[in-house]
Amino acid sequence: MRFYNTMTKRKEEFVPLEPGKVKMYVCGPTVYNLIHIGNARPMIIFDTARRYMEYKGYEVNYVSNFTDVDDKIINKANEEGVTSEEISTRYIEECKKDMEGMNVLPATTHPLATKEIDGMISLIRTLEEKGYAYNVDGTVYFRTRKDRDYGKLSHKNLDDLRSGFRDLKVSGEAEKEDALDFVLWKPKKEGEPYWESPWGDGRPGWHTECCVMAKKYLGSATIDIHAGGEDLIFPHHENEIAQSEAANGVEFAHYWLHNAFLNIDNRKMSKSLGNFRTVREISEAYDLQVLRLFMLSAHYRSPLNFSAEIMESAKNSLERIENAVSSLKHLAENAGTEACTPEEQEKLEGMKRFRAAFEEAMEDDLNTADALAAVFDLVRFANTEADENSSRAFAGALQQEIISLCGILGLKPERKEEALDADIEAKIEERQAARKARDFAKADAIRDELLAAGIVLEDTREGVKWHRA
Ligand code: AMP
Ligand code: ZN
Repeated sequence: MRFYNTMTKRKEEFVPLEPGKVKMYVCGPTVYNLIHIGNARPMIIFDTARRYMEYKGYEVNYVSNFTDVDDKIINKANEEGVTSEEISTRYIEECKKDMEGMNVLPATTHPLATKEIDGMISLIRTLEEKGYAYNVDGTVYFRTRKDRDYGKLSHKNLDDLRSGFRDLKVSGEAEKEDALDFVLWKPKKEGEPYWESPWGDGRPGWHTECCVMAKKYLGSATIDIHAGGEDLIFPHHENEIAQSEAANGVEFAHYWLHNAFLNIDNRKMSKSLGNFRTVREISEAYDLQVLRLFMLSAHYRSPLNFSAEIMESAKNSLERIENAVSSLKHLAENAGTEACTPEEQEKLEGMKRFRAAFEEAMEDDLNTADALAAVFDLVRFANTEADENSSRAFAGALQQEIISLCGILGLKPERKEEALDADIEAKIEERQAARKARDFAKADAIRDELLAAGIVLEDTREGVKWHRA
């Protein structure tokens, strides 16, 4: 399995720290609003990476935080006249609902920044002891000049950056030793949440949070994979590396993965342009699996454009898979023969090439676009090869193969009628029980109820069979 590593700017073979295990950290959202479809991109992409690694047999410890203390949260709380905690708790709940809709697995741990303040204070103290941090009237800064490696992830020219930041220094942070120094701890302001610390009451800087939570919940100062959107490369991830490596004296993460941005109608998505779309809005018009398929239809390192037409085309694509699965299911249920013929066996051998192509694409830096193409090739193969003369085993094997490959991508191409089937079976059982108890009126009532729903029952020697009218 190869990943493009932002640090080395190359695709590299993935070698985990510990055989068979993956320690992975993905920067999560700041929870002050419903998540937007841009936030959904890293969620879906890195969830797919996790699912693929699990499919390959790795045990993945997947940690993704919620940033629950931030200026935006505080502003929102002040607007509504409620506490920051009320805002963050509300939007964490909402975010989890959207994740479920997109079939994004819950992380192994979803730590909250506000619950990890002690760890952050202790990290900052270590940095202070090692001469990497300095305190100016209750604001603690990281001393970037002392860090020879500073800038190694973003590959930035530090001199250019420093001159770019000079204006900022003049305007707000004149006390800093260097324009690139960043805040580790900031003093409280009126009306803001705060914690006690050796530098006075205040709160940690954003970059400090992730270092602490990654190390604590992944159980090691060096982790395998650190991921997030490309906007986080600088300064967020650069500053995470600086702190973590200065304090721990070891490399922070072996692989740095970043997704490109999602645009809307070929423009940047922003509140001021008014083209901002939440996942919740999309869920009102579409099954969120359509959004998932849309996200996977491009390589994660390419910019992706969202538009109404592209969503419609993703919807049609998903339907194509669902139709194939549902027709194979029908063929299997109504097949005249059970076992595969030798010709069918041969075709199933041939079918393996789609999984091979799928894996080859995923192995190559998570090329989900090509992996999806392999799924569609399989769908086409199934549509041509299976018909009313197919055996139950053949149609069933094709159906399972499509479901299995889709499952690795987090797609569930089985129509909702699956759930309905379970309901029908339950009703039939209820009818059988009524008959056994000689309650024929109830048994007939259930039969009529099912008939009204288009389900025809047949009492046969093998038991009750049913079909849709
Ligand atoms: P934030 O809540 O802004 O910290 O963002 C949470 C995650 O969403 C980060 O990994 C961001 O990089 C990512 N993200 C935000 N906007 C977009 C976008 N338009 N396209 C792709 N990723 C985004
Ligand atoms: Zn982070």
